[in-house]
Amino acid sequence: MGSGVGVPEVRRQQGRESGPGVAAGTGVPTGASTSAGAGVAAGAASSGLRGRHAEAGPGVNLLALRSHNAALVLDLLRTAGPSGISRLELAERTGLTPQAVSKITARLRADGLAAEAGRRASTGGKPRTVLRLVPEAGHAVGLHLDRDELTAVLCDLTGAVVDERRAPLDLGAGAEAVVEGAAGEVEALTAGSSVLGVGVALPGPLDHVRGVLHRVTGFPEWDGFPLRDALVGRLGTPVVVDKDTNAAALGVAVRGGAPGDAGAGGVAEAVGGSFAYLHLGTGLGAGLVIGGGVHRGARTGAGEFGHQVIQLDGPVCGCGNRGCVEVLCLEAVRRGAVDEAARVLGAGAANLVGLLDIDLVLLGGRTVAAHQEAFVRGVGAVLEERARREGVDVAVPVRVAPGGARGVAEGAAQLLLAPLFGRGEG
Ligand SMILES: [Zn+2]
Repeated sequence: MGSGVGVPEVRRQQGRESGPGVAAGTGVPTGASTSAGAGVAAGAASSGLRGRHAEAGPGVNLLALRSHNAALVLDLLRTAGPSGISRLELAERTGLTPQAVSKITARLRADGLAAEAGRRASTGGKPRTVLRLVPEAGHAVGLHLDRDELTAVLCDLTGAVVDERRAPLDLGAGAEAVVEGAAGEVEALTAGSSVLGVGVALPGPLDHVRGVLHRVTGFPEWDGFPLRDALVGRLGTPVVVDKDTNAAALGVAVRGGAPGDAGAGGVAEAVGGSFAYLHLGTGLGAGLVIGGGVHRGARTGAGEFGHQVIQLDGPVCGCGNRGCVEVLCLEAVRRGAVDEAARVLGAGAANLVGLLDIDLVLLGGRTVAAHQEAFVRGVGAVLEERARREGVDVAVPVRVAPGGARGVAEGAAQLLLAPLFGRGEG
């Protein structure tokens, strides 16, 4: 290692890289030292996810490895798990020539991303070398900023959580305090080692491409704040900002293909990769996955599910409107009328199912977690009623999203990880 190729140095290392100059030669894209450069670093992480940086040459970093074909190979290595996959199988599954596969795998091995997983007997010829992904070759941080709590996870390349931190957070404490607090937690979590970057998930609405917040319900003072650039400047690593709902949905979408994970996450792929993740926590929003990729819309504003009006003369919502699903849901929960909250959520879910004809509704967030059965039953009942009315045989299923309380934070790490494997983009 240390050949100037970035990847080995992306591994967790002890010993702090000093200050914001981290960039050069550490596997982290350059740019923290100037604000213009910081924009570049952030851009590489958030919108340059399709291999535009593959020509970077020596000194290339993990993010730069993303050519489409390399991503295909990496994803097969990832899904093969520790038992690995042979070059021949890689060629068969990707449709690439054996020569192309050999070139890609040689590069991945040189960069520490792939390693030999042993040899496997083959019919006739000599035993085939089997390759596997090296999960610890890179890490990403997933940061969930909720209105009152922060969760940060450190994930390896497979998305597995290797470390976690939680802390109270006051999203209304002002940008400086929140950025400083969040950066401190990230630093404590990474213990000075280099990471691929930090994925940040928080309540929307926001501009995912620019990493700029809009008017978060209940916290209008965040409107226009460039959170991504503020964190890039403070941490010196690439940062991607997205809505909590999109992050959680991405986490589920990627998890669907993970080996040995036939649980709730597997359903996303099993049903064709289109689902809605409804997050009811301190607010209400939706993450939409259509055809395996997160649907963010033209201005990355899709999924503002909570502020659809379903009662014209209803109670005033934090957004300024009346009778939004969010305010009706949260007020019912506050009164202890969980079944009513579930029916209201079901009405919103039924609207979504009718609009998008999705395959599955997943429920998450801490309010759901506190009353899982009631919400799954209540939302399911509304969807069944709807299916009956329309003469559809089987209603769209409703389940609790996998990932639990960490689902959003784990999904936030996937904002950095998933593009390496060509996953999660619509
Ligand atoms: Zn509202």
